[in-house]
Amino acid sequence: MYNLRPYVKFGRILTIWDLAYGVCDHQRVANRRGAEMRRGGISALVGLLALLASQLVVGVQSASANDLPAVWIGSPVNGHWPTNEYHSGTWDCYLSTTYPSDKCSLPYAHHSFSYGDPYVGDWAADLQGVTTSTPVKVFAAPQNTALTITAKVVNVTYACAARSGETSAQRLARGGRAVVVGFYNGSTKIGTAKYVHINPVSGITTGATISRWNKTIGYPFLKSSTVNSYGCWSGIHVHFEMTSWLHYACYNKGYYPRPTSSSDLTHSPSTIHESNFVGFIGGNYASAPRKMCP
Ligand SMILES: [Zn+2]
Repeated sequence: MYNLRPYVKFGRILTIWDLAYGVCDHQRVANRRGAEMRRGGISALVGLLALLASQLVVGVQSASANDLPAVWIGSPVNGHWPTNEYHSGTWDCYLSTTYPSDKCSLPYAHHSFSYGDPYVGDWAADLQGVTTSTPVKVFAAPQNTALTITAKVVNVTYACAARSGETSAQRLARGGRAVVVGFYNGSTKIGTAKYVHINPVSGITTGATISRWNKTIGYPFLKSSTVNSYGCWSGIHVHFEMTSWLHYACYNKGYYPRPTSSSDLTHSPSTIHESNFVGFIGGNYASAPRKMCP
């Protein structure tokens, strides 16, 4: 089960779908957020007030003063955006594909991920055209350059769901690690980016504060041909997700969005370079998951 969304994004309404499929995971998230709020206590409130005051001074970048600062996220790799994939006689991204798809790698449909991490992405895509020597880097910057944004590793976990009886090493050998990086304005968490199917470099451990720009966190994972991934990994790529703590993260509409006609099935992959814009967290750009930025 891929789609276990956070319980409530502040004012967001719990949907029927949420109730049917995600309550247990949602409750865990709610509990964790409760704990965070208790730990944060008054300092979080002071931080929020300071944030609101700063927005009044420098000008609000989005519709509401309650919105979080917008954070601009860049491509972690030199590679290419997903293509309209063709597998076993089927164009997997053509028309009928709906979320959560593990075949179509485009963000309008691609599955998101929750193993070992309570938050699934607002959108996810498989970034391709990489090798084991392609650095996977964090690039994040405040849309309002007067603000300070910091980055912290909030989770290092498995890329693959656990299989009964397997060891940690066996689980890693099927798909490598997932590194989740949180972005903050002071003590205020704005959202996360998730870099999946990678081998982290030294120092990328939960709780580590890292540079928000041009910071190598790992290299793409390559599975041994003798290991069965059991559907977790099917070729070298970086599965990438973004989640906004309030509203939803959006993705760059400039890359191939989705096929809309049969004449649109073959196309050249969109090249992406390190730090090319891939989407926003924070701000108020999307009112639902898997939406393009305006
Ligand atoms: Zn993926």
